Amino acid sequence: AVMVGRRVRRRRRWTRVVAVLEEFEESCATHVGRLRQVVDAMAVEMHAGLASEGGSKLKMLLTFVDTLPNGSEKGTYYALDLGGTNFRVLQVQLGGDSSDRSAILRHDVVRQAIPPHLMTSTSEDLFDFIASSLKEFVEKEEGFSELSAVKRMELGFTFSFPVKQMSVLSGILIKWTKGFAIEDMVGRDVSECLQQAMSKIGLNMRVAALVNDSVGTLALGHYQDEDTVAAVIIGTGTNACYLERADAIIKCQGLLTTSGCMVVNMEWGNFWSSHLPRTSYDVDLDANSPNPNDQGFEKMVSGMYLGEIVRRVILRMSEESDSFGPVASRLSEPFTLRTPLMAAMHGDESPELREVARILKDDLEIPDVPLKVRKLIVKVCDVVTRRAARLAAAGIVGILKKIGRDGSGGITSGRTKGQQKFRRTVVVVEGGLYTNYSMFREYLDEAVTEILGDEISPHVILKHTEDGSGIGAALLAAAYSSPNVDTVQ
Ligand code: BGC
Ligand code: MG
Repeated sequence: AVMVGRRVRRRRRWTRVVAVLEEFEESCATHVGRLRQVVDAMAVEMHAGLASEGGSKLKMLLTFVDTLPNGSEKGTYYALDLGGTNFRVLQVQLGGDSSDRSAILRHDVVRQAIPPHLMTSTSEDLFDFIASSLKEFVEKEEGFSELSAVKRMELGFTFSFPVKQMSVLSGILIKWTKGFAIEDMVGRDVSECLQQAMSKIGLNMRVAALVNDSVGTLALGHYQDEDTVAAVIIGTGTNACYLERADAIIKCQGLLTTSGCMVVNMEWGNFWSSHLPRTSYDVDLDANSPNPNDQGFEKMVSGMYLGEIVRRVILRMSEESDSFGPVASRLSEPFTLRTPLMAAMHGDESPELREVARILKDDLEIPDVPLKVRKLIVKVCDVVTRRAARLAAAGIVGILKKIGRDGSGGITSGRTKGQQKFRRTVVVVEGGLYTNYSMFREYLDEAVTEILGDEISPHVILKHTEDGSGIGAALLAAAYSSPNVDTVQ
């Protein structure tokens, strides 16, 4: 009787574990009807953010980039990419031959993790560190020749945080995201901070362009393919930018651009809508984050948070059953389950889920998790990633809707008998989630097709770029430091 009683109790507990998962899955639902509501909400918020300052949670920031690189750029430029987990320095050589745009020679890239203490220190500490890494790199590249002391080098600075630009080469930090918290930096001119740190150590370099990573990515995308209209980043954080008509930027009347267009940095990480499928785990994650009530969309979509959502769900399940090992495992520590680990568990194709077992044991210190529990854990990863990818897809279609490329307004250009011809539309996507997490990418691509429908989706191409945020910044530095460049078509 004791044995039977124990078995019954265990089964009841297991039922509750499964119930936790089922409830979670239900509240994460992203059927296409709901995604369409998110699409509409995104387009509406974009309008609102363009209409007036503070008109929406979407900041819709001006970038002053009205000219995208076209292949005529020539010379050697540097790029510095700061914004997520790593920072990178690269040297880019441009041939100036528009018929051969592949002719980018990218010299040595330095990729370094940002020492965590610098993310919450002072701006001076951070920029001194960056400037000296930059100097070290340049000395190596240029062989420390006398030339480098005389010749002033041009830098494209990718700074992947919300910045209110004053010009293409200057702007002030609005707020930090992605775990950075350097108080004294908010409200200050980002370029100036770097410029000061560089001159302090005698580095003869000038910031020629200060850009968001999404803008750098759009620049590279457009350089490679002129049908590129938008760029999306899905990495540690998430964001998008796109090419907007200057006259649609109502909050900035009489905006003068050479092309009649301007790239708008949406800062879509801060998008919010009541149509987003938010769960109690999202609410708790937000409340315990360094920036509560902020970056709501980012917290459901980007790499910094997906693993953390999974951890919270597994922790909740473990409270219902002892199959998850001792309660005091690392599972109760925030951010221990990083998204790359989650992707690795999700991608485990072995029937016994060996990789899942290994990660649970090695990284979370939970040994001997039974197979049926491991299966549930994979399922949690799937639910979280699928929701994230599908919401990002809805965001992309939202942009297409705003610029009339989703097919809903009836695209008239090139109309042929009885049949509408849709313009080829390219969106470039970059960032660790899209690049390294295959299930994420599959779900995203699939959802874009699902929302757009079979007729439109063949004309919309999602393209994966690499290093766009770095190379693109160098391209923009080139575009804005040389006098004769064409404008955006
Ligand atoms: C930042 C954006 C950035 C994105 C991707 C977000 O947290 O606010 O400026 O583009 O992350 O790096
Ligand atoms: Mg980056």
